[in-house]
Amino acid sequence: MAGRRILALSTHPDDVELTCGASIARWVAEGDAAFLIVGTDGSRGGKEGASVSDQTSRVRRQEQLEAAALMGIEDVVFLGLEDGAVEDSRELRALLVEQIRTFRPDVAIATDPTTLIYHDSYVNHRDHRMLGTAFLDALYPEASNAAYFPEQLANGLRVHKVPELLLYVTESPNYWVDVSETLDKRFEALRCHASQMQQWPQKGEELIEQQRRRAASIGAAQRMGFAEEFRRILADQLS
Ligand SMILES: [Zn+2]
Repeated sequence: MAGRRILALSTHPDDVELTCGASIARWVAEGDAAFLIVGTDGSRGGKEGASVSDQTSRVRRQEQLEAAALMGIEDVVFLGLEDGAVEDSRELRALLVEQIRTFRPDVAIATDPTTLIYHDSYVNHRDHRMLGTAFLDALYPEASNAAYFPEQLANGLRVHKVPELLLYVTESPNYWVDVSETLDKRFEALRCHASQMQQWPQKGEELIEQQRRRAASIGAAQRMGFAEEFRRILADQLS
């Protein structure tokens, strides 16, 4: 499997570290190349709560770069969308199609936009649903069809069909990855998001322990050690 190009989409800085970063770290360790698109500027993730802050956004960008480097991600693109205000639009899809045609991944990783209520315990953030929906449409069919955003092709990009899609935070997992070797790397990357960690109980360590137990239980059900789960879609099976 080594040698693949993997493009992951993170709606907010820290989403991948909270969900599927150990799989990415594992695949990089095995010889794949990984790239990350971060949708929003994270500006609503500040301590001050109600306000949108440029300072928060700058801090979060730096934290994301450090976390990505720890997971072995080669390049990070920040789309700079306003945190909490993402809408599915043609303009957004153009941005995403451009990234897909630029990175030309073998595997795309994104949040499952069909998840509205997750495990009866979390209302999936609207930004996740909006960006995830836009990304799926950007993947199939837009990035692979020359009739969409032809101005990008005039500028030297080529159409690209991504063969494999992996969705995280999904109610319909069908693919599991043993991350026993790299789960701690994901948590190390999560700790880079200090501005967020310090707002969580026990400065985020409680959440990490909760996530470790969750990875253990997902793994146990699959006869693995620690595991992450995805909904896997192969493009040639899409009608
Ligand atoms: Zn998020």
